[in-house]
Amino acid sequence: MPLRRCILLLLDGLADRAQPALDNKTPLQAAKTPNLDYLAQKGLCGFMHAARPGIPLPSEMAHFALFGYENEFPGRGPLEALGAGIELEPGEVAVLARLVSVEVKDGGLYIVEDRFKVTPEEKEAIFSALPQFSTQELTITFKPISGVRGVLVLKGEVSASFSDTDPLKSKAPVFELEPLSFDKTTLKTVQALKQYLIEVWQVLERHPVNKRRRERGLFPLNFLAIHRPGKMQKVEPFAKRWGLRPLTISSGVIYWGIGKYLDFEVEKAEEAGDVAREFSERLRIAQTLSQEFSFIHVHHKGPDEAAHKKDPFLKKKVIEVFDQVIGENLSWLTSPENLLVVTSDHATPSSGPLIHGGEPVPLIFYGKGVWQDGVKEFSEIACASGALGRIKAQDFMYLVLNFLEMAILSGLRYGKVPRPYFSEKTKAFKV
Ligand SMILES: [Zn+2]
Repeated sequence: MPLRRCILLLLDGLADRAQPALDNKTPLQAAKTPNLDYLAQKGLCGFMHAARPGIPLPSEMAHFALFGYENEFPGRGPLEALGAGIELEPGEVAVLARLVSVEVKDGGLYIVEDRFKVTPEEKEAIFSALPQFSTQELTITFKPISGVRGVLVLKGEVSASFSDTDPLKSKAPVFELEPLSFDKTTLKTVQALKQYLIEVWQVLERHPVNKRRRERGLFPLNFLAIHRPGKMQKVEPFAKRWGLRPLTISSGVIYWGIGKYLDFEVEKAEEAGDVAREFSERLRIAQTLSQEFSFIHVHHKGPDEAAHKKDPFLKKKVIEVFDQVIGENLSWLTSPENLLVVTSDHATPSSGPLIHGGEPVPLIFYGKGVWQDGVKEFSEIACASGALGRIKAQDFMYLVLNFLEMAILSGLRYGKVPRPYFSEKTKAFKV
C-alpha cells in the first residue's frame, strides 16, 4: 500500500468578517475560487477555532492547538529565538525585545515612536552598548533577530511569569513590569529584569548615536520594550505523539521555531513578495518530499499580510492567487494516497482596529473515504453548514489519524506509553 499522508495547506489569517467594501461579503466569499470550491464539493467541510470563538489568536498559539500541544505552549519568545537559530536549554527564558523611542511623562516611560529608519552602523553601535547583566541567580543577554528586534535570554534561576511592557504601538505608555506569580524565583527575575531595563535606558539615553540622532531631529533608540516571555521546555516530538513524520514548509522565524520546538523537519521557504511564485515553490517542495513525510504543513502568510494592510480587495486578490496555484497542483494534491486539508489558523479582519479576529476558520478534509457533504463553496459561511460542524483545533489531529486509517480503538493500550495510533514500533511479546 502506498504511504498515506496528510497535506495541510494552511493559509494564514484566511477568515475575515463581512466587509462593507465587498457588499458585506468576506474576502473569501467574494473571491473567485473554483478549485477550492471543487474541494469543498468533493470533501467534508466544517469550521474550527483553536481556543474559544471570539478570542483572537496569534498564529503560534493556534498552531500549537492544531498540532495537539495546546497545553504545552511555551510563549512566543522561545519560539522566535529557536527559529532565528538561537540555542536555548530547557529552563531558560526568552522574551521578545525591540528598540523603541521613549520620553519620560509623569515619571513613567512613554513611547513616542516605534518605527524609524536606522543605519546598520547605528544599530550595531546600540546593540553592542546594551549592558551584560548578571546577579548571583541569573544572567540577561540581548540577542538580535532582525531589524531592531531581538530577544532577551535569561539564564539561571529564572521565571517567565511576568507581564509584557510593550504596548505594541507608539503614542502609548510602556507598561510596568509586573510579576504574575509570587514565588521567590519570579520576584527575583522581575527585580533583576527591571534593574536591567532601567540600565538599558540610562546607557542608551547618553549614547553618542542617540546624541547625534537628536541633533539631526531624529528619534533616539533609547529603550527595549519587551513582550511574550516563555520558558524553553522539552516536549514530546510530534512523530512520537502522532505517529506521523512531519515536515513544515514555511517562511518566518516563528514557523521555523514552532517546527524546531516540535521536532519537525523544517524547510525554510523563500519570501520575496510574489505570492504565486512562493506558493507554487512550496507545493513543488511538498510534492518532491512527499515520499519521505507523512504530515506536510505548507504554510503561507499571504492572506494575513493582506488583511493587516486593511485592504479587503487585496486579500480577495491574494486568495484568488492561492486558488489558482492549488488548481495547477490539483491532480497530485488529490491523488489517492493523500489526505488533503485546507484551512487557516485564525481570522484577520481586513478593516477595523483589531489585529486578529475571534471568528472560527473554514476547513475542508478531502480524501479517500472522507464524507462528501454537498457544501457548494469554500467560505466561512458555506463551511459552517458542512457535515463536520464546528470542531476545536484540539480535535484536528485525531481526525487526521482517523481519515488516514491509523486511529486505534479507544481504550486499547499497547506499549509503555499507549498512543492513539497503531505503531509498528511497539515491541513484540518476548518468549
Ligand atoms: Zn497576523
